[in-house]
Amino acid sequence: MGWFKRLKEGINTRRKKVIPDGVWYMCPDCRTAITSKEHAQNYYVCLTEDCLYHTRIGSAEYFDIIFDGRRTYLFDNLVSKDFLNFKDLKTYEDRLVAAKEKTNLNDAITVARGKVNRLDLVVAAMDFKFIGGSMGSVVGEKIALSIDYCLEHKVPFLLISKSGGARMMESAFSLMQMAKTASRLTRLAKAKIPYFSMMTDPTTGGVTASYAMLGDINFAEPKALIGFAGPRVIKETIKKDLPAGFQTSEFLLDHGFLDFIVHRKDLKQKIGDLLHLFRPAKEKESGEETEKVEVPVKVEANKEEKVIKKEKT
Ligand SMILES: [Zn+2]
Repeated sequence: MGWFKRLKEGINTRRKKVIPDGVWYMCPDCRTAITSKEHAQNYYVCLTEDCLYHTRIGSAEYFDIIFDGRRTYLFDNLVSKDFLNFKDLKTYEDRLVAAKEKTNLNDAITVARGKVNRLDLVVAAMDFKFIGGSMGSVVGEKIALSIDYCLEHKVPFLLISKSGGARMMESAFSLMQMAKTASRLTRLAKAKIPYFSMMTDPTTGGVTASYAMLGDINFAEPKALIGFAGPRVIKETIKKDLPAGFQTSEFLLDHGFLDFIVHRKDLKQKIGDLLHLFRPAKEKESGEETEKVEVPVKVEANKEEKVIKKEKT
């Protein structure tokens, strides 16, 4: 009898699963492989306990993690123009077309309004896949418009930076965005509306030199590269070796540049806590927000209700 002859009839053979590319994910830091599904379920963070490498994610993933549910996109119709007719290896126009096709985004920043543990928040999140998350006129304008929106509606603002710096194809116009965003943030501060800045891997160049470092609270993801100039340029300038871990979130936290580092799994709760702490006293007293609640939300909602009740007594 042949080894592979079927003895029983009627055995259901499952249809063989076709494994598409990218089902497995290998951590670039510790080289551990996990399924992409597991990776996504773990907020795109490596499962190895002493690694916890945070993979770069885009604005859509951040919105999924942060917001309670629905979100409204703001200023999504703004698109960049090649007003300087810039050309390096490719024209800027071609780069913009390619970036739009690749990412399905209009520019390197996306803005949305939603609720975090039932409190309102406007989030502007940068996308590194769109020309290295570079800051051009549209990025600056969207940030400025978001701040105006927050001023008008009295909603706190969170900006998630992920950028290689200014967009060189827009030359001085990209640098102007630093002054533009910084001055708008001053208005926000004067109106006592909180601005939280979250730095992710990487936050460099003009972004670090402007809005990323101007938060009322500045925080970052673990092991993120945060700095202005690259380490090689600094080393050549100061003619000294740089300390270990230079320009990482952990180094910056040790030297007082950051308020805290947050693991992505705790991000939503942490932002919820910040929103709660920064709420105007009047709102807390009246419990205005709790009355607005349409649907009670999972466990967080119960927690929060308890906290509010405590405050009232
Ligand atoms: Zn790892």
